[in-house]
Amino acid sequence: MTERFAPPPARGCSTTPVLKERGQHEVFCGLTGIIWLHRKMQDAFFLVIGSRTCAHLLQSAAGVMIFAEPRFATAILEETDLAGMADAQKELDRVVHELLERRPDIRQLFLVGSCPSEVIKLDLANAAERMSAEFAPRVRVLSYSGSGIETTFTQGEDACLAAMVPVLPASDERQLLLVGALPDVVEEQAVGLLEAMGVGPIRVLPAPVRNAEYGVGPNTVYALTQPFLTDTHEALSRRGARHLPAPFPFGEEGTTAWLWAVAQEFGVDAETFARVTEKPRARARKAIAQASENLRGKSVFFFPDSQLELPLARFLTRECGMHAIEVGAPFIHRAVMGPELDLLAEGPVIAEGQDVDRQLDRARAARPDLVVCGLGLANPLEAEGMTTKWAIELVFTPVHFYEQAGDLAGLFSRPLRRRGLLKLEAA
Ligand code: SF4
Repeated sequence: MTERFAPPPARGCSTTPVLKERGQHEVFCGLTGIIWLHRKMQDAFFLVIGSRTCAHLLQSAAGVMIFAEPRFATAILEETDLAGMADAQKELDRVVHELLERRPDIRQLFLVGSCPSEVIKLDLANAAERMSAEFAPRVRVLSYSGSGIETTFTQGEDACLAAMVPVLPASDERQLLLVGALPDVVEEQAVGLLEAMGVGPIRVLPAPVRNAEYGVGPNTVYALTQPFLTDTHEALSRRGARHLPAPFPFGEEGTTAWLWAVAQEFGVDAETFARVTEKPRARARKAIAQASENLRGKSVFFFPDSQLELPLARFLTRECGMHAIEVGAPFIHRAVMGPELDLLAEGPVIAEGQDVDRQLDRARAARPDLVVCGLGLANPLEAEGMTTKWAIELVFTPVHFYEQAGDLAGLFSRPLRRRGLLKLEAA
């Protein structure tokens, strides 16, 4: 029965030698995660300790937020503040006091570190601990780094969630923890499917508000919904919780395998699983078939950016008929990516890290039909006649689980269709 929902075997890339590159890289920093995290955690505030560049990044990335009561800001430490560490700490205390007086709705405050060397020297962990003691029990203060030196843009979420794990209470309750910030509608679908199979109780990290939090402990099993949560994975393991390794819930096949891993852990029988998933699986297959028509037979090349590259390459090759030339990921954590590497058919170069010029040379030589990369590389590659997909869109668009599987394929087919139309117009 176990094989019934497990994907068919592939030779796999688990033993493919990984090309490790440690050169210049072109990615957004971890501050970007604040844009989706502040929507998920309704009583949280993100205070970036940074420079004017950080403030500009947040403002332009979150431009749509200007009409809402913001739940993030940048404490810009001027050169003079940074000249003496004591002054910088005092300045930070002043900003936090003002903020918490003005905003009694804040229950969790994240001090988010950034790149400037003086900010790196500031001991934000200590400051958070001191402030937590001062403002408890009303406000919990935590810290993490979103610095572009240490993090790619999705690692900001990982660093944030990993900072929350150690302060969760202890619990012996048998429970499933879904880990990763998904759009509400997608999260509801996942929880709905699992509850319909009888799986529960189900908790999510991050919880929508601090009061909705729960404990973790040795009877907690957790499933990651995002492939970039490796520090969070380690932090949960340290609390005694157990990871359910599985492919990620992208596409019909990935979603089924992910749900099946959870279902097996909770003793769901195959008939129940089939009954609950049959219709959404059929819908997903149909939607993917329609949306991937112009992807079949095309080649794809991934630059490392979002950390979603391996699961997406698996989806595009196994469900959309593409073939992968190179799959680059910022880092490859075997315990998290193992099930993906097993399923990705042998063939593409698997690269970890980046040496952007060398990788650009390989992409130019291969002339793939589609390049998935960051914004900084997309424009020059488009100018050279290549078709690109911005990796960052994959994080801002609902793409997980069955009902979004067609949209996920559509995100990749749209740039190819657009390029086809431009060629027709030019002819
Ligand atoms: Fe730039 Fe670093 Fe600030 Fe990110 S954290 S906006 S990379 S200065």
